[in-house]
Amino acid sequence: MARVLVVGAGLAGLSAAIDASANGHHVVVLERTKTVGGKGTSQNKEGFSLTFGPHLVHKKGPLWQLCRRLSKRKPASATIRLDKTEILGSGMIRPKDNISKVIENKKALKSKDIAHPVVKAASFLSSWNSNNMSRIEALSKSKLLVSNEGWIGLVGRLAAALDEIGVLIECGVKVDSLHDYGVKLNNGKKVEADVVILACGLNGARKLLTDIYPNRTDEVLANPSRTTASIIELGLTSKSLRGRHAIIDTENNTAAIDYVAIQPRLSAHGSHISAITVGGLSGDVGETKFDSSEQRLQYLENFLDSQAGGWRDHVVTDLRQEKITIHEYCEKEIDSFAFSDVGIILAGSWVKSDYILADAAVHSGRTAGQNIGKAQH
Ligand SMILES: Cc1cc2nc3c(=O)[nH]c(=O)nc-3n(C[C@H](O)[C@H](O)[C@H](O)COP(=O)(O)OP(=O)(O)OC[C@H]3O[C@@H](n4cnc5c(N)ncnc54)[C@H](O)[C@@H]3O)c2cc1C
Repeated sequence: MARVLVVGAGLAGLSAAIDASANGHHVVVLERTKTVGGKGTSQNKEGFSLTFGPHLVHKKGPLWQLCRRLSKRKPASATIRLDKTEILGSGMIRPKDNISKVIENKKALKSKDIAHPVVKAASFLSSWNSNNMSRIEALSKSKLLVSNEGWIGLVGRLAAALDEIGVLIECGVKVDSLHDYGVKLNNGKKVEADVVILACGLNGARKLLTDIYPNRTDEVLANPSRTTASIIELGLTSKSLRGRHAIIDTENNTAAIDYVAIQPRLSAHGSHISAITVGGLSGDVGETKFDSSEQRLQYLENFLDSQAGGWRDHVVTDLRQEKITIHEYCEKEIDSFAFSDVGIILAGSWVKSDYILADAAVHSGRTAGQNIGKAQH
């Protein structure tokens, strides 16, 4: 049995803790903020479960499967429908009154030719431009879902499982540095561990590793880059997307979805709009389009003015983020076990995986938790 310390209680950290504990290790999770779930959670405000931007879950993916395994109840969810998903300037992906367009778009989605405007739009909505074919297929086959419980419902299942097996999650403590005995916290406390799992984001892991292994970190986590997004979440008394499940502006990497239109049981009236603009800032991968994140957020508000007219007069609650990291990469793919000889395992959506986004976070976390022995010295 090893003493395992998990840094970060996002989806990667929670998943790592579940598997490490199930494999007989003594596990503690440390989280810098006051809540668990990292970027993959939501908060309930005025009856709306506000998330960090639109979040879709793949029915066959690792996150869904883990939630399904941990609790008897299937996660409640609903599907984004393509007959209610509009591409700006080209209409619904599956228009009810135009059978030849339905066939044409179906063929395009099957071809997965990313140069095709419909595939491009599907790629944006399903993976925020990762061009991941299995997510495009999931969207086409109604297997890309919104959680009716909010992502807090999914994260809650992971946290409840850890509570049941007696794993301590300590929130509000930041890991400041790594040492051969374990880690040092921002309150000066030292915590001993045999194995440390860094599930604190690429930037966080890089900072901690650079202090202690500068050359190796530069080599393994070489030339990090990222894509950020601006998001607006709105709880409204009006149906401002007019029944559409989603509207996509592919040219400008922008979209809005309405959770209530997708799952009417969420609220008897009104809507929950989640809108996003991806990239376009200096430092983001791709073309620079905005001078600042403030300008990008303003652009998103203008997009809502044109597509969800009147929303400003109907706001019950809202949440805005000018800049949140959505994709993180390095020049070379990052091996979870690149630092295992010194008792450190890496986990997160940025680690090499067959999956992307939250599924990659969960998969890499679980892989870390199942392979503690590889890092035990
Ligand atoms: C706008 C947006 C839209 C998205 N849409 C989707 C989607 O549709 N579908 C999907 O599957 N995924 C989506 N994602 C991605 C998904 O949210 C993330 O991939 C996933 O939540 C990442 O989990 P993680 O555990 O790797 O990292 P994080 O969630 O970043 O967790 C890292 C945790 O470590 C903590 N931490 C950092 N440093 C320290 C330290 N020194 N000490 C202690 N704690 C520390 C942080 O506070 C945080 O809680 C989206 C993300 C964004 C931002």
